[in-house]
Amino acid sequence: MTDLTTTLIHHPYKPPEGFSSPQPGVFKASTVIFPSVAAMRDFEWKDKSAYTYGLHGTPTTYMLEERLCTLEGGLQCLLLPSGLAAIANVALSLLSTGDEVLIPDNAYGPNKTLAEGELLSWGISHQYYDPLDLKDLESKITDKTRLVWLEAAGSVTLEFPDLPAMVKLCHARGVLTALDNTWGAGLAFAPFDLQPGSTPPLGVDVSVHALTKYPSGGGDVLMGSVVTRNTALHMKLKLTHMRMGFGVGANDAEAVMRGLPSMKLRYHAHDESTRQLVAWAETRAEFSQVLHPSLTSSPGHAQWLALCGGEMGSAAGLFSVVIDERYTQVQVDKFCDSLLLFKVGYSWGGPMSLVVPYGLKSMRANWPSYIRRGTVVRFSIGLESANDLRVDLAQALAKALR
Ligand SMILES: *Cc1c(COP(=O)(O)O)cnc(C)c1O
Repeated sequence: MTDLTTTLIHHPYKPPEGFSSPQPGVFKASTVIFPSVAAMRDFEWKDKSAYTYGLHGTPTTYMLEERLCTLEGGLQCLLLPSGLAAIANVALSLLSTGDEVLIPDNAYGPNKTLAEGELLSWGISHQYYDPLDLKDLESKITDKTRLVWLEAAGSVTLEFPDLPAMVKLCHARGVLTALDNTWGAGLAFAPFDLQPGSTPPLGVDVSVHALTKYPSGGGDVLMGSVVTRNTALHMKLKLTHMRMGFGVGANDAEAVMRGLPSMKLRYHAHDESTRQLVAWAETRAEFSQVLHPSLTSSPGHAQWLALCGGEMGSAAGLFSVVIDERYTQVQVDKFCDSLLLFKVGYSWGGPMSLVVPYGLKSMRANWPSYIRRGTVVRFSIGLESANDLRVDLAQALAKALR
């Protein structure tokens, strides 16, 4: 008789096959068991014909990867422990000493910090370009340029660049494009050119997505993805992914998968409430500017219209205001602190509305000509009733900005 502990470990029970339910199972593994040494030697980690090690994939992560390809119109997908790790994987894989990366000046902040930190210390240079000035981007592409980051809309100031024109320019100059597609989320526009010649054609090379935001939808998971439509490019990214030991836990993958079926409905609900609040914000004298791609006055509105399908197109759940210069920082902070439903916190895409005041001056190489002077406050609109949120904003304004 074998010892009980050994029996518990080497249990003979196998559940019957053929179980089926709406959601896939959660397969958790570091070790993957091979049927034999010969099979172990034969197994290939590069494709999905088999399993080799937890870090290289399980049925759960393969399933999520497939669903994200479907969401974004891609063919290959890598999962990473955060959106920022996904950004870093792209940079580490596609850049080496002597190369240069171009990043929009309004990019997600930590993308710039990575360029200023690790990339610079490894001899990889960067330049920031004006996201609304194609000529500025064009003038910065040199023989050293290997990668151009794109982002639409800018996640603090919500300007919408001319993505198709930028991709076209980069491809004409032989430079790879990587889009931070967190805002569009695969719903506002198609990042890949699925029907060549369609209007507008986009066709980025790499789409990075912070699944932390809309796909998760819960404010409780960190994850990122890197989606491509080119096997050679995917393999290059995957090699880095493998060597760096990036991987995600099955429970987190399952949490994101649970969010996907409701994602489009949530995205639409965030969008609708945001537009109601944007319309109200436009009537308030405390705000010298309201930033949201659907507004004709918002920078890049025409490009948003063209890419996202006109007035009824998606505009996600973020908007920002510029609080007039006559108010002090102390007053602006008091406004944010006086909000009851909006919580002070980074990120977006969850059910709870969030607010962050930004010091744009320290974030940008140049103060954008299209943004009024003042303090930018960004709101992430959750799934609460828009009416309740408006009442909350109004009471905080009355309290703090008099
Ligand atoms: C949040 C975010 C990221 C990073 O995602 P994390 O999972 O928080 O690391 C990247 N890009 C954009 C635009 C984001 O909003």
